[in-house]
Amino acid sequence: MSLHYKSTRNSELKVTASEAILKGLAPDGGLFVPEEIPKLDVSMEQLKSMSYQEIAYEVMKLFLADFTEGELKGCIEKAYDSKFDTEEIASLVKVSDTYYLELFHGATIAFKDMALSILPHLLTTSAKKNHVENKIVILTATSGDTGKAAMAGFADVEGTQIIVFYPKNGVSKVQELQMVTQKGSNVDVVAIHGNFDNAQSGVKAMFENKELAEELAGKGYQFSSANSINIGRLVPQVVYYVYAYAKLLENEELANGEELQVVVPTGNFGNILAAYYAKQMGVPIGKLICASNENKVLFDFFQTGTYDKNREFVLTTSPSMDILISSNLERLIYVIAGEDSDKTKELMEALKKDGTYTVSEDMKAKLSDFAAGYATEDETAEQIHDVYDKTGYVMDTHTAVASYVCSRYEQSEKTGKKYLIASTASPYKFVKSVMTAIDAKYAEEDEFALLPKLQELSQVGMPQAIKDILDANVLHNIECDVDQMEETVKQILNR
Ligand SMILES: *Cc1c(COP(=O)(O)O)cnc(C)c1O
Repeated sequence: MSLHYKSTRNSELKVTASEAILKGLAPDGGLFVPEEIPKLDVSMEQLKSMSYQEIAYEVMKLFLADFTEGELKGCIEKAYDSKFDTEEIASLVKVSDTYYLELFHGATIAFKDMALSILPHLLTTSAKKNHVENKIVILTATSGDTGKAAMAGFADVEGTQIIVFYPKNGVSKVQELQMVTQKGSNVDVVAIHGNFDNAQSGVKAMFENKELAEELAGKGYQFSSANSINIGRLVPQVVYYVYAYAKLLENEELANGEELQVVVPTGNFGNILAAYYAKQMGVPIGKLICASNENKVLFDFFQTGTYDKNREFVLTTSPSMDILISSNLERLIYVIAGEDSDKTKELMEALKKDGTYTVSEDMKAKLSDFAAGYATEDETAEQIHDVYDKTGYVMDTHTAVASYVCSRYEQSEKTGKKYLIASTASPYKFVKSVMTAIDAKYAEEDEFALLPKLQELSQVGMPQAIKDILDANVLHNIECDVDQMEETVKQILNR
C-alpha cells in the first residue's frame, strides 16, 4: 500500500506525495503530513557503509511513494553533487565530546541548501507526473537566507522560473551581494522599498489573487512555493539525521542501538521536526532538544503548554531564528492531538485570531520526546568565544545557540549521553557577529575585511560562496515600491 498525505486540518483529504509537493499548502490552510511515518526497511548495519546519496534514496523512497526509483535517484543525483564542497555532503566534526553535523557545505553555506538543492527537481518531477504543462513560477519573500538558497537551487532548472523579493535595507551586505550576483537565465531578484513583512504580504497576496492566476495560466505559468512548509523540503531533511547516526556507528563513536541526543537551533520548526521523523523511522535518538534565541516562543510552549506570539519581536545575531510563528509546529500539534484535525484547526484558528493557544494536559504529556532551552545574546556570544578558546572550533551564531543549550542541558540533567548538534550555517556567513564574539576589538571593522581574519583564526578555508561574491558581477538591479510587486512580476514574465 502506498503512503498518502493528509491535511492537518482535514483528515479526509488525501493526496499523493507528488501532489502534496506541487500544492505546498493544503487547500484548507493545513499542512500535509504522511498518513504514518514509515519505518526504515534497511538495518543501521547496512546504512553504515552507504554514501549520503544512497541513504537519501533509502529514506526518501519511503516518504515519496509515488516516485519511481529512476525518478527519485535522478533527483538525488542532480541535487547532491559538486555544488557541495565535501563529498560527504554533510560533515561530522567532533569537538570535545560533542558532534557537530555541519549542514552548510552547499552552494549558499546555510542548511537551507540541504533541502533547496533537491526541491526544484522534486517539483519538476511532480509536475511531470501530474501532467502539469505550465512553467512553474516560484515566488519567495526573503529576509536573507532562504532567497539565495532558493535562487541557487532553481537556477537553470528547466520548466521553472524564480522571483525573489527582499527588503532593500533589511538584509546584510553579504546576503544582498549573494542574491544580486546569482547567475541563471530563470532567476530574478527584486529589492522592494519596504520591510520583510511587506515583501511577505505582497507575495501572499499574489498567491491568493485568482485573476492574476488566470491571466498567467493563459500565458502558460502557474505559481508555486519553496516555503519550508512544503513536504518536499521536510523529507530531504530527515536524511541527514539517519546519515549522521549511521556514520557515527561506522566510526565507532556510538555502539549499536546507543541513544543519541539531538539539539537543533530552531526557527520555523522544520529542522527539528525532521529529526523527530527520523526518530520515528527507527533511528535511536533520545531527546530532541529545541534551542531558541531570545525569541523564545517555543521554549515557553514546551515549558507551559501555551503558545503565545503576543510579545516583543527581538532582532538578534541569529536572524534566521527570529520567528514568532513557527509554522511547522502545526504538524507536531496534530500528532499530540491524536491526529484530530478539528482540534488542530481550532488551535490554529485561535493562533491566527488571538495570537495564542494552550494545549490540554493530555496533549502536553505527549511532548516527552522533546526538551527545550534558549540562549540570550550574551550567552550566544560567550559560547562562540569559549568553544573557540578551548578547542579552536569556530561556529556561527545559530549553531552557538544550540551549543549553549546543549551544554546547559547536560549540566543540569547529567544523562552521560552523547549529543549531536545541527550546525546550520558557516561562520563566514555571519562573520561580523562571530568575530566580535571572539574578540570585541573586531566590532569596528568592515565585514569584508574580517573574512581573511576569520580564515586565519579558524584554519578553515574560505568557502567558494564567499569567494564568488568578492569578485562576481552584479546581475540584478530591479527595485520597486511595495504596491508595484504584481506589476513587476508581470513585466518579468512578459520579457
Ligand atoms: C532556517 C535556519 C534555521 C531554523 O531552521 P527551522 O527549520 O526554520 O527551524 C536555523 N539556522 C539557520 C542558519 C537557518 O538558516
